Amino acid sequence: MVCRYAVTSNNQGEDGNSRAIIHNHEMLNQVQHDNGGELSVTLNQVLNLFQDLRFQGLMNTDTSVFDYGLWGRECYLDKKGMFFYINMLKGRRNRMRMTQANVLGRKLNGRNQMELPKFEFIQPHSLQEACSLLREHDRKTALLAGGTALMVGLRHRLNTPAVVIGLKGLTALDYVTRNESGGLSIGSMATLETLEKSPLVSKECALLAQAVQLVAVPPIRHGATIGGNLCLDTRCIYHNQSEFWRTPQRACFKRGGEICYAVEKGRRCQAVYQGDLAPVLITLGAQVKIASANGEKIIPLAEFFTGRGEKPNVLKPDEILVEIRIPPSGQGAVGAYEKLRVREGMDFPMAGVAVMVNRNRSGIIEKARLVLGAVGSSPIEVPKAAGLLEGQKPTEDLLQRVSREVVDSARPAGNLAMDASYRKKMVGVLVKRALRRALAMAPEVRS
Ligand SMILES: Cc1cc2nc3c(=O)[nH]c(=O)nc-3n(C[C@H](O)[C@H](O)[C@H](O)COP(=O)(O)OP(=O)(O)OC[C@H]3O[C@@H](n4cnc5c(N)ncnc54)[C@H](O)[C@@H]3O)c2cc1C
Ligand code: SF4
Repeated sequence: MVCRYAVTSNNQGEDGNSRAIIHNHEMLNQVQHDNGGELSVTLNQVLNLFQDLRFQGLMNTDTSVFDYGLWGRECYLDKKGMFFYINMLKGRRNRMRMTQANVLGRKLNGRNQMELPKFEFIQPHSLQEACSLLREHDRKTALLAGGTALMVGLRHRLNTPAVVIGLKGLTALDYVTRNESGGLSIGSMATLETLEKSPLVSKECALLAQAVQLVAVPPIRHGATIGGNLCLDTRCIYHNQSEFWRTPQRACFKRGGEICYAVEKGRRCQAVYQGDLAPVLITLGAQVKIASANGEKIIPLAEFFTGRGEKPNVLKPDEILVEIRIPPSGQGAVGAYEKLRVREGMDFPMAGVAVMVNRNRSGIIEKARLVLGAVGSSPIEVPKAAGLLEGQKPTEDLLQRVSREVVDSARPAGNLAMDASYRKKMVGVLVKRALRRALAMAPEVRS
């Protein structure tokens, strides 16, 4: 079984059931759970079950052992072949029960958990038509671009729209061109594969070309769009779960309730914006064009994000993101993006750092931008750290000071599969890696 997570402690609880804490380790297959021979399900079997379900297509690829909250949690295995696990929060315990049938999803409300909810699907063929539909159906709509993120949300009932408006027919929004200012304009329906293969992006915007390749895996990049990537919803281990998983819990802030399971005494949702491309595009000074039936507007991408876990971007229900505009990078520009993830092969960032610097001919950094991803509800720009670089020739000591500043400004909540304090430390490592990589590149000479 391919799993890097293991049971590292094992004892018997007061109720006679077997218990375990799951940690990051390589010993999984060596550990056996047995409670006097009566236990019919072991943790190892449970993890195998999840793996099998994924292969059978009964669980979405987005769902993993970590998403089921098992990692770092206390588990109870009972004698009937069921298992329980508990979300451990200081002072709060939330007991969950799962059976194989329930994991398969056949028992909740008599339907398969992975079934799509019912909705009307409309596919407009022009932007005007799409805008009119949005106005007509008001708040009950969801836009479907590549669907790689939305379909997961629909299956898990994180979104329950009455009408889904498919954007695939808006072929006029699938483009990458040089714009009048000498920068790039990218239509929101351009796929990540298109960007990855575009000679214009590789030549004019090497940083974007590099970052795109770190998003998910090639089959997902084939359908995923840049617009969908920027409009990703925020994510949290207590929210991005199946409906079954969430059913016994009271709704948290993200779902209109008044509780947060991730932050003790939390007063707002701190779900994480985990898109890879937004931090990169912000360092590049990108703007976004937004359209509605009332017309169009252009705003800096940095202002597109609200910083609120409940509603991560400023889009109104009748608005569509239509274009991303990237200005020319200027003399001596170099940049790099580094991300931390659970599975190197494919995963959302657990933390990300995008850097962009402009050096003059003497090697002095004249301008710098540093943006952190996946450590808050929106990308976080760190001007103080960038300020340390400006006017300086890079040295290891300078990189160390920048790294400390970046770590100080990151305050991730404990709501992803990796430990928050580890993610905080890692932004300091990632920023040094990104700066070293960027500074080792030959500067671009165009203006
Ligand atoms: C297994 C897996 C791994 C992934 N890994 C990563 C990763 O490493 N990094 C990463 O950044 N993402 C990752 N993703 C998330 C997702 O696949 C990508 O971010 C993708 O770019 C989303 O684009 P899409 O066109 O499929 O969006 P969709 O799923 O169609 O839409 C996503 C959201 O954006 C809205 N939307 C889409 N287009 C517009 C528009 N033009 N205007 C307004 N709203 C719009 C939708 O309504 C929806 O809310 C992963 C997803 C999966 C399933
Ligand atoms: S951060 Fe708190 S409120 Fe937001 S989704 Fe997670 S548990 Fe819910």
